[in-house]
Amino acid sequence: MRFSRFLAPTLKEDPKEAEVLSHRLLVRAGFFRQHMSGVFVFLPLGWRVLQKVARIIREEMDRIGAQEVLMPSLTAGEVWKATGRWEAFGADMFRLKDRKGRDLALAPTHEELMTLLARNHFRSYRDLPQILYQIQTKFRDEPRPRGGVLRSREFAMKDSYSFDATWEGLDESYALHDRAYRRIFDRAGLKYVVVSASSGLMGGSQSEEFMVPSEAGEDRLVLCDACGYAANVEVAEGKREDHSVPSPFQKMEKVSTPDVRSVEEVAGFLNVTPELIIKGLVVRTPTRMVMALVRGDRDLAESKLQRALGEEVRMATPEEVLDAFGAPIGFVGPVDAPPEVEIIADLSVRQVERGVVGGNEEDTHIVGVTPGVDFPVSRYLDLALVKEGDRCVRCGEPLRFRSAIEVGHIFKLGTKYSEALGAFFTDAEGKEHPIIMGSYGIGLARVMAAAVELYADEKGIRWPLSIAPFEAVLLDLDPGKYGEITRKLYTSLQEKGVEAIWDDRNISAGVKFKDADLIGYPFRLVVGERGMREGKVEIQHRFDGTSRKVPVEEAAISLAEWVDHERRHFAPG
Ligand code: ATP
Ligand code: MG
Repeated sequence: MRFSRFLAPTLKEDPKEAEVLSHRLLVRAGFFRQHMSGVFVFLPLGWRVLQKVARIIREEMDRIGAQEVLMPSLTAGEVWKATGRWEAFGADMFRLKDRKGRDLALAPTHEELMTLLARNHFRSYRDLPQILYQIQTKFRDEPRPRGGVLRSREFAMKDSYSFDATWEGLDESYALHDRAYRRIFDRAGLKYVVVSASSGLMGGSQSEEFMVPSEAGEDRLVLCDACGYAANVEVAEGKREDHSVPSPFQKMEKVSTPDVRSVEEVAGFLNVTPELIIKGLVVRTPTRMVMALVRGDRDLAESKLQRALGEEVRMATPEEVLDAFGAPIGFVGPVDAPPEVEIIADLSVRQVERGVVGGNEEDTHIVGVTPGVDFPVSRYLDLALVKEGDRCVRCGEPLRFRSAIEVGHIFKLGTKYSEALGAFFTDAEGKEHPIIMGSYGIGLARVMAAAVELYADEKGIRWPLSIAPFEAVLLDLDPGKYGEITRKLYTSLQEKGVEAIWDDRNISAGVKFKDADLIGYPFRLVVGERGMREGKVEIQHRFDGTSRKVPVEEAAISLAEWVDHERRHFAPG
């Protein structure tokens, strides 16, 4: 490929819409452009990287016996209604109607369609297990598209789905994916940690995320350096150093707290620390209303609450709260709560003595309240997020917090979708059972951006060889003089199987060097006056800057060997 005929519009300035490093660099280096918020045009460089990521993924999915299919993006509304996700996705789902007025959706994921496929084709235990996958565009109207392709509204995902007859079979399919994912991310050159993640509704089921530690990430990880414990903060457990705080309140009484709602406001108004305040959050499940209590110095972990309740959970609306408690959010509390509302509490609440709760009356709180004495608590459990200062549940060492980018997610679904959509198989005795499923995703552009976040330096991107748009760039610093030599070099690199681009532009050497560093090709071969005086060219490695000067006639073979050596580093082991 000749650069002069190649669409790679590099920019000198950072694009103004980009706050995240990888976004800035990938736009500046000409990998993609924004079409509108959260929607991107991939230019040749970007598309080449995505294709390389896709190829690694395909090889590793094929290796575990997965079969590639292609589901449509345009999907019938009724299948989403059948599983309740037409509502559950809310505004995240792009919806439309066809000319007959039928509800349609642009698929944000494909559990429903894959389950329907299984229903039609996997009828007997003899048809199982199976793994199907695709690399397909997903559509999600993300509330905050961010970081360029890290969180977009249209994005390519590899999603696979496993179908098993037994729970042991699901364990096996899950383990196969775990291994495939490690190989994929190793081969793509990423550094990552595998953390336990929220498994949502399915009690015993397992879920792990593949996380690339990075300040650009939106996820928070909790790590223990001593024993290797790693979890998403949503589900992480910690040993707490909670202690109780002495209370200034002698007896239980109502106090007027006009317009004082949040923990900070209440603490300031009553001149107490947050440890004395009990927050009450009212949530709804499809069947009931629950008040979850946490001490004022901690935050509720929604996924822990969801797991504890075993049902889908959402915050109650202001109207629902007013209706049940007779008071607005901010003033509700567990004392004299409506009897149909179950009250559960985080472990921290047990330590509060003569604390403060909402008064179930506008502008009112109650002070001097003790859980278990002044109001009932049906269960105490871990419902709070871990925080700085908590220790590892396994080994007691201090926990560390880090931001990270989620590049992949593996998930034991169980039978939720097969039951909802009627995907049953018959066992050897002719009895029917729901197919046991898993689902597994990787965001291709997130892999690309995560690599940029990991390895970029002050000059630009540094690609791992395996996903670089080209393995090498040939810089011809004086096309008038060395054009013929460079052309020969380029041809022989091609013959030797090195993927190279030839920067033959009639522009200054400085710009060529700058662009090469910005775009981040792993290898750079320079044909210029200085070396050619001795009949030599320079080969340099972008990662660590090591370089070699070699006679021009040995240059192609020397670079090919170096590339080959490096390829082995990323090769499937
Ligand atoms: P997040 O919590 O970051 O929104 P998610 O839990 O919604 O991710 P999944 O539905 O599990 O993600 O999707 C599988 C994979 O698809 C993710 O691990 C991620 O790599 C990728 N992905 C998800 N949402 C986006 C997006 N908006 N843009 C780009 N990639 C995405
Ligand atoms: Mg999401």
